[in-house]
Amino acid sequence: MSDLPWLQAPFDAVLASGAAGRLSQGLLVHDSPGAGGIRLVKRIAQLILCTGGQPPCGECSACRRVESGEHPDLLRIAPKEESKLQQITVDDVRDACEQLVMTSYEGRGSVAVIHPADAMNHNAANALLKTLEEPRPKLHLILVTSRPSALPATILSRCQRLRIPPPPRAQVLAWLQAQKPSADWPAALDAVGGAALDALESDPASLRQLRDDTWRALREARQGTLDVVRTADAWSKDGLALRLNSIESYLTQRILAGPEIGAQSAELRVGAHLPAPDLDINIALALGLLDGVKELRLQTSTTLNKALAVERLLWRFARGASRARQG
Ligand SMILES: [Zn+2]
Repeated sequence: MSDLPWLQAPFDAVLASGAAGRLSQGLLVHDSPGAGGIRLVKRIAQLILCTGGQPPCGECSACRRVESGEHPDLLRIAPKEESKLQQITVDDVRDACEQLVMTSYEGRGSVAVIHPADAMNHNAANALLKTLEEPRPKLHLILVTSRPSALPATILSRCQRLRIPPPPRAQVLAWLQAQKPSADWPAALDAVGGAALDALESDPASLRQLRDDTWRALREARQGTLDVVRTADAWSKDGLALRLNSIESYLTQRILAGPEIGAQSAELRVGAHLPAPDLDINIALALGLLDGVKELRLQTSTTLNKALAVERLLWRFARGASRARQG
């Protein structure tokens, strides 16, 4: 289905549910970042609204209007552009529900897509819950999020879950290569945290540059030559999410390389195929720093002083390295 091969298995699961008459009116699509869950949702909407012989045929007028976003029985609830906090409000949900009660123009039912569902504020979630508890016949609610834990348990318990796991890196690389050969996709994926569609929508050369620049700064932090304060300030103002992804992939690659090339065994690294100077921290430190990155990522949505938080992380790199040198 669609052109994203990793969506086929989740879509097959939906087809099987549908065929068995078990497709719930409340569906929660647990997306992975950049995996294209919304494309899967379009396909599910086609399955529900299709008027052709073998839904989703992809050919009938209903399928084509779902594809172009013009089907009157398909509604998307998203944060309004002018919403400062980028939240879905109770009015957004109520307006949509009212509109859907009046419609189902074409008799196949109606579909409301809430994306990203974790943008609903407390009152919006409560309003949606009422609709989930007593759904009108033929009304399908599809919630899409990559952070289901951010949704109230009362909502989660009323939805059938559909997981889109992070696609295997090799599959993403093969797909990106087919879209645009000759780009340095492995480096670009490092900067976008493996998110396929994010990589495709960006310029792979500048992603690579950002990753290389981040990795260089980490090396300098360990060597004690990095201007930590200035770097943290610059990163906090621009492209912080990509920097954090790059740091994460740096640490993950260090961990995957295994314990035998730690800082204590420099002689073992001589002649090894790994870029040894790039991985000159021990595995315990790498694991600790990885937790630090995850924490920082959670904080960046709430903390006011991002620069200070980044600075702390970079100091941990610098301190850990000097300890490794002494030990
Ligand atoms: Zn169709």
